Amino acid sequence: MDILIKNALILTMTGKGVGAISEGYLGITGNKITAVGPSIELPAQAMEKVKTVIDARGKVVMPGLIDGHIHAMLTLFRGLAQDMDDWMHYGLAPYLSNLTEAAAISGAALAAVEALKNGTTTLIDFGFPMPSICRIYEEIGLRARVASLITAVPIQMEDLPPGELYSFDEAQGELLFYQNLALIEEWHNQAGGRITCVLGPQGPDMIPRELLLRIKQAAEDLGVMIHMHVAQGDRETYQIAKRFNCRSIPYLHQLGLIDKNLLAIHLTEATEEEIAIVAENGVAMVCCPASIAIIDGIVPPLVSFLEHGGRAALGSDQAPGNNSHNLWNEMKLAALLNKVRYRDPKVLPAWKALRLATVEGARAVGLGDQVGSLEPGKLADLIIVDLQQPGLVPYLEYPVRNVVPNLVYAARGHEVETVIIDGRMVIENRRLMTMDEEAIVSQAQEAARSCAAESATKILALNKGPAAMMHDGLI
Ligand SMILES: [Zn+2]
Repeated sequence: MDILIKNALILTMTGKGVGAISEGYLGITGNKITAVGPSIELPAQAMEKVKTVIDARGKVVMPGLIDGHIHAMLTLFRGLAQDMDDWMHYGLAPYLSNLTEAAAISGAALAAVEALKNGTTTLIDFGFPMPSICRIYEEIGLRARVASLITAVPIQMEDLPPGELYSFDEAQGELLFYQNLALIEEWHNQAGGRITCVLGPQGPDMIPRELLLRIKQAAEDLGVMIHMHVAQGDRETYQIAKRFNCRSIPYLHQLGLIDKNLLAIHLTEATEEEIAIVAENGVAMVCCPASIAIIDGIVPPLVSFLEHGGRAALGSDQAPGNNSHNLWNEMKLAALLNKVRYRDPKVLPAWKALRLATVEGARAVGLGDQVGSLEPGKLADLIIVDLQQPGLVPYLEYPVRNVVPNLVYAARGHEVETVIIDGRMVIENRRLMTMDEEAIVSQAQEAARSCAAESATKILALNKGPAAMMHDGLI
């Protein structure tokens, strides 16, 4: 055994609840979990030849968190596009046009550090330039499932007013499809299997029909999933209606894309009937509660999707309009926003939110046989959370237990003390062990400053939302 963690409250997330073991132990050999159980049952000979012993009394050991949807390359725009209408056009696009490749990589490295320190061990990234970002994930030690974004709509969306039908740039769509295929060729099952790839069409409204059909065929031929924004907003609904005279989900259903190979992001605009169709056909959903609340003021239909038996994960999406890559926020907001939506405190209890960020999330993104729960044979992706931090005290285990609600409603992320991925200690005592955190942070700060300076004239000239108040010196 290489690592033995003992005396911990272990949340295995197996079975139908959280699979709690008080005073538990967990053994890791190589990159796998090899033993889990009550400390009292720990065989004496198991202690021999253990390289590292961690006494986790007063701490929780649980699966690492799964971030089902992130655009890591946008992290340099943190906090620059919220409290406004037409977020994508007037908030994000003016900055995007000044995002260099080096700056995008720098933002992704920052997102990786942030996510890791908040206990995320797997993230599903969707962006560019993905090969370089994969090198960051390889070095920093994350598990990542990645797609290179495919769109036939010009990236600089501020030139595309929301009310007009996009004209497709078919050559751009072809090039980006080719780049996603090249990414799969280069990075699928690399870094010891930690990095895997999927295909990433940006949305049904942003890809010509024929190209979408070819992407579907390529996914089948290569045995990879499709990760796509679906029913993500009224802009998409409008574009699909104008082009095909129907709604997004019936359109995708006609094309044969509504099946278990699709990871559908957001589903914000899906009707009850459409939610039933996607869930019952095996589509997995990623719900990004904070992002969609901030940029759209909407609570996505996660609860009805789950009621129809759907597989779902939570995602942090993007920092310009969500501000953080922190699954503790997403768990809390998924629970709170749905309680408010249904005016019912029983909706989405804490333990279910915790399952969405771990075992259910892993299943939804197609990694359920490898990670998401703590059991022998699974990969050793786990975190140790310090329950002795003031905001998590008192922690009670018996005869009543308050730990799970406190993890979901009180933890903020800094309580994550240790992060182990693939059996490797990536965060130890809250310190990043694999890369130079200070260098990543200072490079990101510098890159963001120069990108913001170059974008300022355009942003202030747009005079939309907060830009007008910045212009007038109010905020
Ligand atoms: Zn997204």
